[in-house]
Amino acid sequence: MSYTGQCNCGAVNAKIEGEPVAVRQCWCRQCQKAAAGSATTNAMFPTEAITFHGALGSWSYEAASGNTLTQSFCANCGTPVMGQSSARPQFRTLRVGFLDQAQGLKPQVIIWTDDAPEWAVIDPELPTFARQPPPPPSQG
Ligand SMILES: [Zn+2]
Ligand SMILES: [Zn+2]
Repeated sequence: MSYTGQCNCGAVNAKIEGEPVAVRQCWCRQCQKAAAGSATTNAMFPTEAITFHGALGSWSYEAASGNTLTQSFCANCGTPVMGQSSARPQFRTLRVGFLDQAQGLKPQVIIWTDDAPEWAVIDPELPTFARQPPPPPSQG
């Protein structure tokens, strides 16, 4: 399987080879701002599987874990594109909204539910983590 992604204005696009290693929904406060009030839904792919074209803007901050998180977005239209952690340079977490093929990329885990507003709809079928979950399995 391969995936493609594009921002709202078309200035940034991407091609991704293979399947995500994890799909997660995140309710942390930074994600609520990136997603305009809701959670972000993120598909984590190996870094080398992704090819980008176009100008990304980025913003970095130190997370509660002490790791540096970098959020990237289209420099022109602001569409959220991905996040990455200094602790896991081998992965990029692409925003599912950026991808052209959202079908099949259902979240498997919901994280940072401690920060979710009381009106958040959280799938009772899915495992949840109140805060940061353990890292995903290593892919060698
Ligand atoms: Zn754009
Ligand atoms: Zn988050």
